[in-house]
Amino acid sequence: MSHANEIKCPSCGKWTMWTGRVDDKCIDCGGFLEPERFSRDAEKKIVKGRRIKDNHYFDLRPTDGPVQREVKLFFNSMLWGFYYLEIAFFVFMTALLAVVGIIAA
Ligand SMILES: [Zn+2]
Repeated sequence: MSHANEIKCPSCGKWTMWTGRVDDKCIDCGGFLEPERFSRDAEKKIVKGRRIKDNHYFDLRPTDGPVQREVKLFFNSMLWGFYYLEIAFFVFMTALLAVVGIIAA
């Protein structure tokens, strides 16, 4: 016995069968019945990345003068540059090891 319910399609607004599965689709328009649930994983990753990006090495304070602000912003962007450089280096090394593995095999 399949447990099916009637649900209103978020895409076309028509009633369709819903079995509670993440990838259930509307029988009328073929759209996902729970698009927000389907894309939750991707959303989580984006939010996580954003949280990391919001972190600053030097916090700007309202009491900071214009020179202090500039210096802090400069160091923040410079340190973020190093961070991305590190990632690029890691990606490069991984690719290099993969190539070496192919050649050596
Ligand atoms: Zn629909």
